[in-house]
Amino acid sequence: MTTPTPTPSAEPLILALFGPPGSGKGTQAHLLVEEFGFAHLATGDLLRLEIRDKTPLGLQAEAVMKSGGLVSDDLVQRMLSEHMLRALESRRGILLDGFPRTAAQFEFLERFLGEHGHRLDAVFNLEVTMEVLITRLTGRRLCRVCGRVYHVVNMPAKVEGRCDDDSGELYQRADDTRESIEKRMEVYESQTRPVLEAFQQRQVLLGIPANEEARIVHPRLAVQIRRLLARATTVGQ
Ligand code: AMP
Repeated sequence: MTTPTPTPSAEPLILALFGPPGSGKGTQAHLLVEEFGFAHLATGDLLRLEIRDKTPLGLQAEAVMKSGGLVSDDLVQRMLSEHMLRALESRRGILLDGFPRTAAQFEFLERFLGEHGHRLDAVFNLEVTMEVLITRLTGRRLCRVCGRVYHVVNMPAKVEGRCDDDSGELYQRADDTRESIEKRMEVYESQTRPVLEAFQQRQVLLGIPANEEARIVHPRLAVQIRRLLARATTVGQ
């Protein structure tokens, strides 16, 4: 693909994918990382790795994640800080996925980035109807090795049950049950959706219609990112 790579003088972009569970954040993140080479920081993926490795953090987070609640701001922020520092050093740009999810997390992010001489450049809000969300969540499967997202009907793997990229086993998330999905939607409405207003006030919010399949939604994001990259390159010169 012919993507303009930012010149070394350009500031790396800091972006976030936002939207309810099932809006396609993970799927779009994988496509964008492939195309633009960003460091992908997905708090849900990072937490699932902590659970898999049975770390103290994973043990603390497991039950609340399974029930569909939010892990405490403090735990998530501490976990993310380390990853963000490394990602900032790499100067590849950062694509946040599933963070920030509360007003406090957004405040933390602004402060953290400010302290390191950066700012959040854009937040892409993936807009999806409830009917599509439920269909996506109930048929979703993930690769145990790389976290790539599949769907049993809409986006099946070439070989059933195995990841196209690394043949890893595909599994269903522990929180993709009907009960947990309902809880996650409630949590999204009460704690996460309200953060949209803060993004709007900072003039970083971009709405992306995202009801359609991934390959249709992807170019809508990519075109915005190319615009931001072009601007960052011009400003950086
Ligand atoms: P996700 O993979 O983004 O759907 O996240 C799965 C689960 O991980 C969520 O339902 C929460 O329990 C937890 N989680 C992920 N990101 C966050 C976050 N930023 N703040 C709190 N909990 C989170």
